[in-house]
Amino acid sequence: MNKNSKIYVAGHKGLVGSALLRALQKQGYNNLVYRTHQELELTRQTDVDSFFQKEKPDVVFLAAARVGGILANETYQAEFIYDNLMVQANVLEAAYRNGCKELLFMGSSCIYPNNKSVAIKETDFMDGPLEKTNDAYAIAKIAGMKSCDAYRRQYGVRYIAVMPTNLYGPNDNYDLKDAHVLPALMRKFHEAKLSNSPTVSVWGSGTPKREFLYVDDLADACLHLLVNYKGEEFFNIGCGEDLTIRELAELIGKVVGYKGQMVFDATKKDGTMRKLLDISRLKETGWAPKVSLEEGLKRTYEIMRKELSAS
Ligand code: GDP
Repeated sequence: MNKNSKIYVAGHKGLVGSALLRALQKQGYNNLVYRTHQELELTRQTDVDSFFQKEKPDVVFLAAARVGGILANETYQAEFIYDNLMVQANVLEAAYRNGCKELLFMGSSCIYPNNKSVAIKETDFMDGPLEKTNDAYAIAKIAGMKSCDAYRRQYGVRYIAVMPTNLYGPNDNYDLKDAHVLPALMRKFHEAKLSNSPTVSVWGSGTPKREFLYVDDLADACLHLLVNYKGEEFFNIGCGEDLTIRELAELIGKVVGYKGQMVFDATKKDGTMRKLLDISRLKETGWAPKVSLEEGLKRTYEIMRKELSAS
C-alpha cells in the first residue's frame, strides 16, 4: 500500500470504517473509494462484482458488517450470520478476481473461547467453546478470517485479519435496542441527567469484565500493520486492560455528570464473564494504544451529544 494506491473502505459510515477513512486521509492516502449502504448492497454478489470490476481497488479494508450488542446478537442471529458471511464472501472473491493484492479483514474478539480468566492470546483460537450469546456472529467472523488464510495460501495475495476488542468513538450506534454497552450506557446516563431521572438501568449483574479501545487507535493499528507487517499471522488489537461493567458505568456517570443511582437489571444476560485480549504480538511490531479510557470517554461524550442532536 502506498499513498497513491486505490483503497476501498467497505463500511465507511460505521464506527470502524469512518475511523479508517479519517486515518487514511490524515496520513495522505489520496485515492480512496467508498459507497454508502444505499449505493452498494454488499450482500448482493452481482452488485459487488460490478463495483469491483469498475473500481478495481488495489487495497481493501473490509469494515462492513452487521454488528450489535448482546441483545441484538441473540435476537437477530440468522441475519448476523447470513449478512456477514455474504458480505465477506462477496468482497473477498470480487477483490481477488479484480486484482486486489492487499486486504484487511475486521474480525472480532468473540472468535475466542468464552470465559477466559486470563488475557487471550492469538494461540487460544479454537481452544474451547464459543460464547452462546453471539456464536452466530463469531462463526461468521471465523469464516472471514479463515477465508483470508485460504486466499493468501492458494492465490498468494496479502489478505490478513485483525481481532479488535470492544470499540467505541465517533459514529457509534446509540440505538438502545442493538447498541453495545458503552454507547448504550452513555446515552442512558445522558438522558437520565437531562430528565433528572433518579435511576439508570444497567443490564445484567455488573460483574462481567470488558476491554474498550478508542476506535482511532484501532484504525492507527490497522494502517500500521498493513504498511509494516509482512507476515501471515492475525493480530489481537486492544488496549491490554479491562474493567467490570459496574466500573465502566461509574466512569461514564462521572464523565456525563450524572448524580443518580444505577439499578442492575437481572433479567438481562451477562454474556461472557471476561474477554480481555493479550496484545503482546501487536506490541512486538512497535505499536501501542494512545487514548486512555477516560480521555476516550470524554471525547465520545462530546461527539455523542452532537450526533444525537443531529439525528
Ligand atoms: P458483549 O460484549 O458481546 O457481551 O456485548 P455488549 O456490549 O452488548 O454487553 C456487554 C455487557 O454489558 C453485558 O454483560 C451486558 O449485559 C452489559 N450491559 C449493561 N448495560 C447494558 C446496556 O444498556 N446495553 C448493552 N448492550 N449491554 C449492557
